[in-house]
Formats: sequence, structure tokens, C-alpha cells
Amino acid sequence: MNEAVKVDDVTQVYVTEQRATLAIQQMSFAIHRGEFVSLIGPSGCGKTTVLSIIAGLIAPTVGTVQVAGETVRGPSTRVGYMLQQDYLFPWRTIADNAAIGLEISGTLSKEKKEEVLHLLDEMGLLRFKDYYPAQLSGGMRQRVALVRTLATDPEILLLDEPFSALDYQTKLQLEDLVVETLRAKRKTALLVTHDISEAIAMSDRVIVLEPNPGRIRKQFEVPTAIRDPLPFVAREQPGFNALFRDIWQEFGGDTDAES
Ligand code: ADP
Ligand code: MG
Repeated sequence: MNEAVKVDDVTQVYVTEQRATLAIQQMSFAIHRGEFVSLIGPSGCGKTTVLSIIAGLIAPTVGTVQVAGETVRGPSTRVGYMLQQDYLFPWRTIADNAAIGLEISGTLSKEKKEEVLHLLDEMGLLRFKDYYPAQLSGGMRQRVALVRTLATDPEILLLDEPFSALDYQTKLQLEDLVVETLRAKRKTALLVTHDISEAIAMSDRVIVLEPNPGRIRKQFEVPTAIRDPLPFVAREQPGFNALFRDIWQEFGGDTDAES
């Protein structure tokens, strides 16, 4: 069976008038179907670049990326992208914002409209369908962005720090909602975060990157006892803190510190 995502020996150089930046050097990894993987690492280590290449928004300088066995040559509805900012259009209602991907791809049927409403219902947003984004909280808006991403039924979701602008409680609630939803729909996901505990709590596997140039430093399989429960409960499992410390150390963190 094909891997959901295969990043093969990818190198990315950004060239501007001032300089050339080696953003990613010879990076290779694969994500299995249905797997939830997190990429973590300090700012500038190439996380967003990796997602942009998988999404087909930029072509790698060297190397190839495959999604479901096919080489990525440009953007495709098979890949959904969710960002830190929700980018909802202020003049469109929640329902119309959620359906925009379908509208752009020219696939917004009556049936699909019903599906969008069903997704909004699953996210507890149905009664806000005729509201405008400004009338919703940050967490609700991110839920709308999630519906918008799921509405086109992508095989893979790329999540670039989708919770980092939210308050802590909202973030914890959304982590559970996202994991629960993606599991039920058997989606493959790649999350970028610089929150180690979020990465452990949500993922099956954590890939730690290092900067200058961006490379894989180390990968950690999350033990079953931690990855089976939803993120909130995962944080209370034995072994969670030990794994946190192992990953923290890869960042050059001080292991004697109280964390
Ligand atoms: P991260 O998401 O991990 O913070 P990025 O992928 O955004 O990292 O950036 C990796 C490196 O590439 C950084 O040094 C950044 O300055 C550089 N970079 C990113 N995008 C561009 C661009 N469009 N042009 C030039 N340099 C870029
Ligand atoms: Mg980034």
C-alpha cells in the first residue's frame, strides 16, 4: 500500500537578491495512512516550508514529494491546509465561509451544502451558520476553519500551528476535537507546532527538526498508552513527562529544570 505522504530527499533553497538560504537539507520521511505526525523544532527550521512543499504551493529545489502515491506537482484538493490564522472572509456567513473550498473547486452541490451543515453541526456550530466571523470567538472561528478544510474531503490535513493564537483552555478543547474528528474520518495529519506537549498529546509520532539547515534531528514514536486516549487524558498518562523530557533535551533544554 502507498504511504499517504512520502517526502524523498528534499532540499529547499530560497534565493533572494541579498542571499541564498538553505531552508531544508536532504529531508526524507513518510507518513502512513491514518497516522498523525507532528513536526516540531525552533523557529526557522523549515516547518512551514515542508508543509508548503507537500501542499504543492512551492516546488522543492531538489527531491520529490508524493501524496497517496502520486508526485505532487501543484495544489490539489487531496491536501487540506489549516493555518494559525483562520482567514475567514468577514463579509461571508459562517456557512458560506465553510463552503468556500467547494465553491472554488466548482463542486458545491446541494448534497455538499448539506454535508457542510452536518460538519458545522458536529463542531457545535450549526446555530451560528448565518453569523459573520466577527461575531464568533477565536476558538469558534478555528472550528469553522476546520470545517472549511474538511469540507473538500482531503486525504491529508496539514496543520500549521492552528492552536497557537488561542487561549489555553480553548486550545485543549480544540486538540481533543481535532483528534476525535480526524480519527473518526480516518484522515492522515501532519501538525506543525512548537509546543512539545501538544505534539506528544496529539500524535502517533513526533519528528524533531533542527535549524540551519533544516534537518530531521530525531523521531519519537508515542507509546500506545499515550496515543490511544484523547489529548487531554493523554497528558495524564504515565510516561508522558518522561517523553516530554526526552524531546526537551533534543532542543538543548535543561533537564534539571522544573517543567
Ligand atoms: P519555520 O516554519 O520552521 O519557522 P520556515 O519554513 O518558515 O521555518 O523557514 C525556514 C527558513 O527559510 C528560514 O531561514 C526562513 O527565513 C527562510 N524562508 C522561508 N520562506 C522564505 C522565502 N519565501 N524567501 C526567503 N527565505 C525564506
Ligand atoms: Mg512556520
